[in-house]
Amino acid sequence: MSSVNPVVTRFAPSPTGSLHIGGARTALFNYLYAKHTGGKFVLRIEDTDRERSTEANVQVILDGLTWLGLTWDGEPTFQYARGERHRAAVDQLLAEGKAYPCWLAGDELAAAKDAARAAGHALRSPWRDREVTAENLARPHVIRFRGPLNGDTRIQDLVQGPVTLRNRELDDLILLRSDGVPTYNLAVIVDDHEMGVTHVIRGDDHLNNAARQTLLYQALGWPVPAFAHISMIHGPDGGKLSKRHGAQAVGEFADMGYLPEALRNYLARLGWSHGDDELFSDQQAADWFDIADVNKGAARLDWDKLNHVNAHYIRLADDDRLARLVTEVCLRRNEPLDEASLQRLYGAIGLMKDRGKTLVELADQCAFLFLQRPVTIEEKARSLLTAETLERLARLRTALDQEASWSPESLDIRLKSFAEAEAVGMGKIGPPMRAVLTGGQPSPDLGRTLAALGRSEVLGRMDDVLSPLS
Ligand code: GLU
Repeated sequence: MSSVNPVVTRFAPSPTGSLHIGGARTALFNYLYAKHTGGKFVLRIEDTDRERSTEANVQVILDGLTWLGLTWDGEPTFQYARGERHRAAVDQLLAEGKAYPCWLAGDELAAAKDAARAAGHALRSPWRDREVTAENLARPHVIRFRGPLNGDTRIQDLVQGPVTLRNRELDDLILLRSDGVPTYNLAVIVDDHEMGVTHVIRGDDHLNNAARQTLLYQALGWPVPAFAHISMIHGPDGGKLSKRHGAQAVGEFADMGYLPEALRNYLARLGWSHGDDELFSDQQAADWFDIADVNKGAARLDWDKLNHVNAHYIRLADDDRLARLVTEVCLRRNEPLDEASLQRLYGAIGLMKDRGKTLVELADQCAFLFLQRPVTIEEKARSLLTAETLERLARLRTALDQEASWSPESLDIRLKSFAEAEAVGMGKIGPPMRAVLTGGQPSPDLGRTLAALGRSEVLGRMDDVLSPLS
């Protein structure tokens, strides 16, 4: 069966202006399930809200998915453009008596809802059973689904387990509004059917819709796809993820300096697990991911874990790419780097990559590389530079000038032997040297700091302080 009917999953976002992290995880689970089964992952933009569905809002979604590396198969489908297909399905239902025009509005509608509630079921319009005249049809009306009055609708949800809804609790939902615009439930099932979607993996806020959609599939005589409703992502405190928890949109995570592969790995682990594995490659994720292993309970965003995962991928990242990303952080912060700073960054990034959990932290840690000579030395650091210390630094300059290999290890050895020769502890050398080299900015241990700056910059920064003496 599976070879005849390959898995097709989909992500069906409405363009709201951002790609929410919960939506990104939904997309990821769809993507991984398609990869796992050798199926397809397709994208449908649900752009029926014409005001919000601007080109820019659509682009945010495409960019967010592309940044995350969740490439979809084929061209995206745009829902609004498919109105004719949606209306054709309604025509079929009308022709088969499975839908009906309804003129219920205003007070009458409110009264019908009250009556339905009193009778213990959801809304059924009196127009279900009334004769339709040509004269009526000329007046504005909606088209409603003729839902079953009795029985149950059962969903075998791959995450939530079996879910049963009583049909009497599902109203005769509107399929076409009075202006002829299709409603969400109708559009979704027509599109999912025609796009060949076999597995609908989405947020559990749509669980109730799954029952309504099942009834529509059945009415149209179409196979019902498998459903998997995944829980929302909650904040660290267990509440629904909101602004007070910090970032929510994929773009914000990018701006905060998270790498796409780190976010992919972290989001995959959020609500799904493979044993105790926290860190895994994309291939492993695709090999291991099964929708049936996704937890039912809400997943909590854990910043410490995310930072841990991100730090891991920063360490793994290619040096040139990392240097480029740090440069981008600086540009975003309006701290453009000159040619010499860029050269130092590209040369030093390999020594710096374990210094930040995010690209922003890493950029902060690299700031000492970008200082312009003469380096401005903070007041507190300047007080370390007594006459005695400056004389010692002048001797250190001579010693460093003789250092041939200029690696962190050889520099460490050279610094230690210099301290021994001077009969002082490193405490007399490290702090003033840092003051001279970094002006008080954060920097790694001294050997690495020297190696990262490079010989000529180190000697130059020392000369800027020492030259008044000579
Ligand atoms: N467009 C809907 C949303 O963004 C999702 C529809 C679906 O997945 O069925 O919530």
